[in-house]
Parts: sequence; C-alpha cells; structure tokens
Amino acid sequence: MIHCDYCNMPILFNPRKYADLNFCHPDCFEKRHAILNARNMPEPFYEEVRAVHDGYCPKCHGRGPVDIHTIHSIWTVWNAGTMKQTQQLSCHGCASKDAIIAFGKASLFGWWGLKGLFFTPVVLSRNLGTILFPPNPSKPSPTLTRECANQAIKAGKYSVLPLPPETETVVLEAERVVAKIRRGQSFLWGVVFALVGIVAIYDAPRSIKSHHGEHIVAEILTILFFCVLSWWNFRKWKSGKR
Ligand SMILES: [Zn+2]
Ligand SMILES: [Zn+2]
Repeated sequence: MIHCDYCNMPILFNPRKYADLNFCHPDCFEKRHAILNARNMPEPFYEEVRAVHDGYCPKCHGRGPVDIHTIHSIWTVWNAGTMKQTQQLSCHGCASKDAIIAFGKASLFGWWGLKGLFFTPVVLSRNLGTILFPPNPSKPSPTLTRECANQAIKAGKYSVLPLPPETETVVLEAERVVAKIRRGQSFLWGVVFALVGIVAIYDAPRSIKSHHGEHIVAEILTILFFCVLSWWNFRKWKSGKR
C-alpha cells in the first residue's frame, strides 16, 4: 500500500506524483518541494535540527524535547466562520495547555453554524490527538525538520540541490482536483441549505401556512436566500479562503 509522503495516510487510488514522492491530496502535493529539500540538506543541518529538538522550549523556557505541535480551532455562525490549524514550536506541556484552551473555545464557539456541526467534533478530536499523541520525543519529527529546512533555505544558510522538473500535466491535474473538490463541496452545501430552507418553511407555525400564496412566496424567498448564501460560500472557496 502506498502512503502519502506528507500526511502518511494510505492512498487508495490515483496518487499525485512528484519525483519519487506520492501524495494523497492536492494540499499535501503542495508540500512536495519542502519535503524534497528537507531530505537533501547537508549533514550539519541535521545536527542543528537535533539541537533545536533537544533545546529549551521557546514558550516556557523549560527543558525539551521541543517539536512542532498543531493546535486546531474553529468558530462558526450560520454560514460563516473559520477553521484553522496553527503549528507551534514548543514542548509537549505548552502544546497541551494551548490545545486544552483551543478545545474549550471550539466547544463553546464551534457549533453555531452548519459547517460547525460537522467539523467541531473533528477539531475537538484533533486537539485531543495533540494532547494524547505527541510526536516521538526521541528524535525530531519530519515536520520539524521540514520547517527548519524552510527557514535555513530562506535565510540563505544552505544552498539546495536543484529540484526535479515539474511535469505541467501533474500540476494542472492537481489544480483541477482541488477545483472539483471545492465545487463539489459548495454544491453539497447549496443542497443542504436549500433542504434546510424547505424544511424550515414546512415546519413553520400554522399561521404562516394558512394562506397558500404567501407560503409559496416565502418558500421561494427562502430558497433564493440560501442560493445567495451558497453562491457567496462558493466564491469564498474559489478564492481559496476558508
Ligand atoms: Zn496526504
Ligand atoms: Zn514549554
């Protein structure tokens, strides 16, 4: 079974390829250069990474090991909201504290939109994962190595080997897949919103339903309202902001 070289998930079909790497999703595919760079650094670089890993925590100045931990957050209100993940360099103690705070915030503010109903449990469980399953403390994680490589290259500390050429079709295909997924999700949300609108009308108090004409007008207005919301949602997805 092939595994994704970025997130390590098994890939069931159609991996995106770059050099000898395989990726499960366009978002993972985007990290391909960083992965390759982190693999091909000169030996002194890896000693530096180990020094960072075994050094002091930049947050509490306590003893390491220090690694990259991910904190997940979400807030939603009806059709709006954000869901994001923040990576931080710290000891596991600091990361757990921040994950507990993020857990509390998500359980208070995550649930107030439709997306939140689906994704708040995901965010909560991921924060639990940050607390319960830290990276292996005996060596720097691949994420830490990648981040250090990124910074060292940006700072011009090390020169990197030229990256293998990109086949244009691969890039195009990845972009197409991203667009397809986003469009599919937006369409799905549109359907969900429209259904919710219809159900809301049919479940409305009897007084609204008493005049058939008003009922139809209210229904059409509601569906239009949800169409506009979905269209806005789709534009947001297309522009890449979540
Ligand atoms: Zn992946
Ligand atoms: Zn700390």
